[in-house]
Amino acid sequence: MAVDVERRSVAPIIPPVKPRKLAKVPFVELADGRLQGVVSSGSDVERVYVSSIGAGSHGLSCSTNNNRPCGGLRGSYPCKHLQALLDEAVLQYGADRVARYLRIDVEEGRSLTAGLRAHHEPSPAATVFSSFLRHLAYLELPDTTAPVPELHWFPSVGAAH
Ligand SMILES: [Zn+2]
Repeated sequence: MAVDVERRSVAPIIPPVKPRKLAKVPFVELADGRLQGVVSSGSDVERVYVSSIGAGSHGLSCSTNNNRPCGGLRGSYPCKHLQALLDEAVLQYGADRVARYLRIDVEEGRSLTAGLRAHHEPSPAATVFSSFLRHLAYLELPDTTAPVPELHWFPSVGAAH
């Protein structure tokens, strides 16, 4: 018994190594006639989705940063990335402003999603993604030589320097 206790007490405690938790929606903007942004994948920290909803048209687009179409976006119902994008936009801009910008008629007590006249309308992810990269570049980074975690998804960013 005593031996067990002693052995347990000297066992090194190693904190579990977990990947850095990324913001679910690291980037959202109302620009270019769209609500657009970048949504991190729930299952793969290496992958992000570029999602957008057209103002007025309500055309939905969702693809990975490598321009692979999102498997969750079929027909006219927003995938979970678009829903996360919409949720984040409501947090940042307020539901009224988002609804006005996208021209969504929100019925009393219904969500913005319910007011979308949505259809699938693929748009190139590259435009949104370059806005995101500009946004990252504007972030004030602490003076450090360590790799910037936000940028390590994008090998091409490092290679460009
Ligand atoms: Zn999606």
